[in-house]
Amino acid sequence: MSKVYFISSRADSRDRSLDKYRRLLKTLDLGQVVDQGDLVAIKTSFGEHGNFTYLRPQYVRVVVDEVKRLGGRPFLTDANTLYAGGRHNSRDHLITAMENGFGYEVTGAPIVIADGLVGRDYRLVPVQGVHFQEVKVASVPLDADALISLAHFKGHMVCGFGGTIKNLGMGFGARPGKQMMHSDVHPEVNAGQCDGCARCRKWCPEGAITMVEASEAAGGGRGRKVALIDDAACIGCGECVATCVTGAIGIVWKSDPGIVQEKTAEYMAGVLSEKAGKFAAIDYILSVTPDCDCLGWSDNAIVPDIGIAASTDPVALDSAALDLVNAAMGIAGSALPEAELGATDKFGAIHHGIDPTAQLVHAEKLGLGSRAYELVNLDKSDSKRHKKSNDE
Ligand code: SF4
Ligand code: SF4
Repeated sequence: MSKVYFISSRADSRDRSLDKYRRLLKTLDLGQVVDQGDLVAIKTSFGEHGNFTYLRPQYVRVVVDEVKRLGGRPFLTDANTLYAGGRHNSRDHLITAMENGFGYEVTGAPIVIADGLVGRDYRLVPVQGVHFQEVKVASVPLDADALISLAHFKGHMVCGFGGTIKNLGMGFGARPGKQMMHSDVHPEVNAGQCDGCARCRKWCPEGAITMVEASEAAGGGRGRKVALIDDAACIGCGECVATCVTGAIGIVWKSDPGIVQEKTAEYMAGVLSEKAGKFAAIDYILSVTPDCDCLGWSDNAIVPDIGIAASTDPVALDSAALDLVNAAMGIAGSALPEAELGATDKFGAIHHGIDPTAQLVHAEKLGLGSRAYELVNLDKSDSKRHKKSNDE
């Protein structure tokens, strides 16, 4: 059974937040993961424009300092997003990270975007999955000596919740990989947004893209060309989605939530394939919003702040975090319906029809960890007072 270390978010002058957090890191024992001189990838999300509940960079700083103390060389990293937004390419991604407070002066570590300027820097990693035999993983975490995942634990509209599994699997999937996780449906070109650059045709491995005259409805005339995908020839690899800089190649968001979760777990298998003994993860069960940090807004938290959990077993960690959320009383006035404040499946109560445990079950089947865990509470014994007031 894997150990999951935990500190509650309660604090006072006798047990300050920072002291508790350092105690958690000390018990997690990153010294087992980080060796002298290691390049240590710290995976987090830098948040989206207009979202205010992503992981605070000050939490990242404490981990960075600990890695440096151990002789490691930490850097922050994440891969570019599939959808258009503030993290669609490395240039925009870095600006978003700076605007959201992840500058060196705050975190003490540089940022390296994991999959290059436009998401083309990735490698194929063999996995023994149900959906994939190989996955397209951003190069940087594969090249790093050690990997530490810092995940804001919150809801997600497709996966039910997003924790460590999603942070690593979806987070480090290169853009074509993200497309394949999200959909088996082939992409389509929005001719109105296509500028006819033909980059997608160059990169398509199947020769499925041709340049055709734009129709009048799509602003055609005077010889304007646009891309057209031959659905019969397309294998849905997503290369064209990753290549198009105008966002003209649409992602068809048609996916079964259970399948997306399973695929995400298979991607995590690829990410961790060469990280045995060189991996640790932390879930921040704080500001537990109903949806993901990739949205340009932040809704109310659905439960009160709970705490921070850490483990070297990503499945045990996400299982514990999910159980802690489900055991908490919901907050009235949040996305949780009034009648569901005490629900034992909080995310399922919000995202109807999604079983958020699918990712845990599949990750366990893949041998990535154990759903059974021992929760080791590192709050000081006199924090019974905290528990009592939590229960009241
Ligand atoms: S779909 Fe995108 S990459 Fe392809 S030709 Fe149009 S603008 Fe260029
Ligand atoms: S998804 Fe792949 S095969 Fe299909 S058109 Fe795009 S690049 Fe070509």
